[in-house]
Parts: sequence; structure tokens; C-alpha cells
Amino acid sequence: MVQENLRAVREKIEAACQRAGRDPKEVTLIAVSKTKPVEMMEEAYAMGQLDFGENKVQEITRKYEELPSKVRWHMIGHLQRNKVKYIVGLVSLIHSVDSFRLAETISQEAVKKNVTVPILLEVNVAGEESKYGITCEETITLAEQISKLPNIRIEGLMTIAPYVTDPEENRPVFRKLRQLGVDIKAKNMNNVNVNVLSMGMTGDYEVAIEEGATMVRVGTGIFGERDYSVKPLESR
Ligand SMILES: *Cc1c(COP(=O)(O)O)cnc(C)c1O
Repeated sequence: MVQENLRAVREKIEAACQRAGRDPKEVTLIAVSKTKPVEMMEEAYAMGQLDFGENKVQEITRKYEELPSKVRWHMIGHLQRNKVKYIVGLVSLIHSVDSFRLAETISQEAVKKNVTVPILLEVNVAGEESKYGITCEETITLAEQISKLPNIRIEGLMTIAPYVTDPEENRPVFRKLRQLGVDIKAKNMNNVNVNVLSMGMTGDYEVAIEEGATMVRVGTGIFGERDYSVKPLESR
């Protein structure tokens, strides 16, 4: 099932790129494997899927041991400062930086480990109360502050669009994130790139690609519905 799903998602990504006149190589598919067993991830890996997204530190550190070292791990969930030490040096990209204090902790840990950590700023574009992330208005100021920290590098922006039944409803959200990226780029800040726009999930990744996404985070569309009634091992 995983392999069929993955094939279908890849085809849809290509079609969306074609519609938008984009090169499919510009778009990285992140397979969001949270709550799913490593066996399913291995099925995807066998098809050349290297980028996986997780939203819990403990789940990343556990699965990291079980999967090949070629896998690129993406932290896409809310990150607590006291857990930063476990993933710095282990994940390829932290998508969910939403405060200066968190960035500072990442920077300190990165200095200790002598690595540079690429991050994205998580922007709550639609201003939903239930979501983490900074406002569009706060983004440039935060980018300027973080750009002065050592061993941390802003690579772009991430957003979690609202849950909608018609993906077209999220088109303005994706457009707004892209525009924000353009505005940040125009500031030419040191240590701040806008190579990455991480936007689009199972319900709306094709629209996100049409609006410029360079990373899409697809979970259900590849691995099927998540069952939260089964508690993950580490929290039992
Ligand atoms: C769970 C999750 C996804 C994947 O959601 P699906 O709708 O299953 O594709 C993407 N991004 C984030 C931040 C998530 O937490």
C-alpha cells in the first residue's frame, strides 16, 4: 500500500509541477511518518524515499537507530527547548522555529557540537489561534535577530495551512508565505536564505506546489490514516 501511495503522490507532484511550469527537482517530498512503524518507512525507503518528517523528538531518536543513516530527518512539530539537545546534529532541518529563545537554544547546542543547524521559521499565516508559529508581521524582525546567532542558519519558511475541505481555500495562504519569502530575500540579511518554502500537506500539496512550495509534507497520503488511540511506545 505504501509503495502504491508513494507512486501516486510522486505522480501528482510531477503533474502539479508541470501545470506550474516548474522542474519537479525543485520540490522535495517529505514523507511524514509520525505514529507509523519503521516497517512502513522501510517500504518507502526501498523506493528511494530519503526525507522523513516527524513531530516528536523521542520518536525521531528511536527511529533514527532503526533506519539507514542515509535517511534525512525533518523535525516538523513543536519543539521544546529542553529537547533541542537530542536532535541537534541528528536532523537535517528543523521546520518549526517560532521564537528567539528556541533559536538561541539551538544555536548554543550547535556551537557545543560544532555543527551548523539549518532551520525554517514557522509562520502562522492564517492567524489560527490553535496553531504555533509567528505572525507574518513578526517574521522579518525575528529573522534579523536569529541571523546574528552563531551556528544556526535560516533556510526559509514553513506554514501549516488551515484544515479545509477545498484545497483552493488555502491558495491565498501559500501565496502569502511565498510573498513573505520574497520580502525577506529583499532584505539581503547575512545567514538568511529563502531557499525553502515548506508548505502543503495531504489535502493541499498540489495547490502549494502551484504556489511555489519547495517542500511538501505528506503523511496520510502515503501511510494512510493515523490511529492516535494506540499510544506510541515511548509514552506508555
Ligand atoms: C502531521 C503533519 C503533516 C502531514 O499531515 P497529512 O495531512 O497526514 O499529510 C504535515 N505537517 C505537519 C507539521 C504535521 O504535523
